[in-house]
Amino acid sequence: MRCPHCESDITHVIDTTHDARGGIRRRRECEVCKQRFSTYERAILSTPLIIKKDNSREEFDREKLLQGIRIACAKRPVPAAEIERLAGEVESDLQQMNKLEVPSRVIGDMVIRRLKDLDHVAYIRYAIVYLPLGNLKDIQKEVNQLLKTEGE
Ligand SMILES: [Zn+2]
Repeated sequence: MRCPHCESDITHVIDTTHDARGGIRRRRECEVCKQRFSTYERAILSTPLIIKKDNSREEFDREKLLQGIRIACAKRPVPAAEIERLAGEVESDLQQMNKLEVPSRVIGDMVIRRLKDLDHVAYIRYAIVYLPLGNLKDIQKEVNQLLKTEGE
C-alpha cells in the first residue's frame, strides 16, 4: 500500500480491525515519513447473470426491473420511492445469493412476494405476466385469496 503522504511503497500494518459488515480496517504506518493512515477493505458484491427462458444469459438490468414494477404499479397509490426500494432490495438479495447466474424466475418471485405486501392490484397485474395464471379461473382464485386477506 502506497503512503498517501510521501508516496513511498514501504508501509506496514500496525493494527487490523473487523467491522460488523464484514469489512477490514487496517491502520498503517509509512516507514519513510512515519505518517499514519488507514485503509478499508470490503468485498465487492456482484449481481449474478440472469438465465432467460430461452436459456440465453443477460446482465441484470436494474432499469428493466424498475420498468416492470412501474408498469404493474401504474395509477396505483404506490410512491416512486417504494418502487425504487423494492428494486433495490431485489438487487441486493440477488447479490447476497452469491451465485454466478440465476433463472429469471427467481427475480419474478422476489418481486411478486414484495408486491403482494405493497399493493394487491399491482401484484395481480404482475402475477398475470409472471406467474402461470393461465386462465381467468387461476386469476379469480388468486384474487379471492387476496380479498380474504384484505378482509382480515
Ligand atoms: Zn510516507
